[in-house]
Amino acid sequence: MITVHTIAELRAQIAAWRRAGERIAFVPTMGNLHRGHLELVRRARERAGRVVASVFVNPLQFGPNEDFERYPRTLAQDRAGLEQAQCDLLFAPTAREIYPRGMDGLTRIGVPGISTVLCGEFRPGHFDGVATVVAILFNLVQPDAALFGEKDYQQLLVIRRMTADLHLPVEIVGVPTQRDADGLALSSRNQYLSADERPKAALIHRTMQDVAAELRRGNRDYRGLREQAAAALAAAGFRPQYFEIRTPGLDSPKPEEKEWVVLVAAYLGNTRLIDNLRVSS
Ligand code: AMP
Repeated sequence: MITVHTIAELRAQIAAWRRAGERIAFVPTMGNLHRGHLELVRRARERAGRVVASVFVNPLQFGPNEDFERYPRTLAQDRAGLEQAQCDLLFAPTAREIYPRGMDGLTRIGVPGISTVLCGEFRPGHFDGVATVVAILFNLVQPDAALFGEKDYQQLLVIRRMTADLHLPVEIVGVPTQRDADGLALSSRNQYLSADERPKAALIHRTMQDVAAELRRGNRDYRGLREQAAAALAAAGFRPQYFEIRTPGLDSPKPEEKEWVVLVAAYLGNTRLIDNLRVSS
């Protein structure tokens, strides 16, 4: 695996592969890689002769009081994992390389509407930061396909919409959420959890499954289901930001709906956890 830190080196390698007629699949990440990220790389391998991953903790997508400074940075370990997963190239740029003129006055990509609900309501500007960096990375890597986890369901929709609206020639592939044995979705932020909090965190998945079972057995009292689920999490010591039942496009569901997404964001101690579950009747 080649590791490059500059845009010039990245572009040179991409151009060589393009000249050789290779297909390129791309996996953007913020590093601290776990089995979920490596599943994206594995699936990328199935789609293209060349796999590029990026590790970049993007300052543009963190709010002023969020965890940008303490976000885990483990590049040597990430490199080893990517190598094992048969990634061809790791792009690990500095913020200066990506934003050489700084972030003030930076050209930004915004996907209105969908970026301001759910997580967007609690993290203003977050999805604009994501859309902007992904557009920049797509422009640099010029992939045929890019893979994103369904774990970040709203992010996946934002990226799909941005790619469609800008007519970017990139196929966006969603990959199912990888979980620990007790159901907790793998996340780089799970390591913020204390030994007491870690077993409790699995309650998010169990609560979503309870709601899914109710939906499947015909319960359409969306509000009641949401409120009961949020109350169950709060009673266990979580501070839920939202517990929502939406259509796959994130609209409010009608009683005759046949497919839903259950979405949760909740703090456990100082750790913000998000998860979601697709449900069909
Ligand atoms: P991150 O490094 O957290 O920005 O995530 C990079 C990519 O990995 C995103 O597309 C995430 O949705 C995806 N991802 C993160 N956690 C998981 C997981 N547990 N299962 C599948 N994909 C994941």
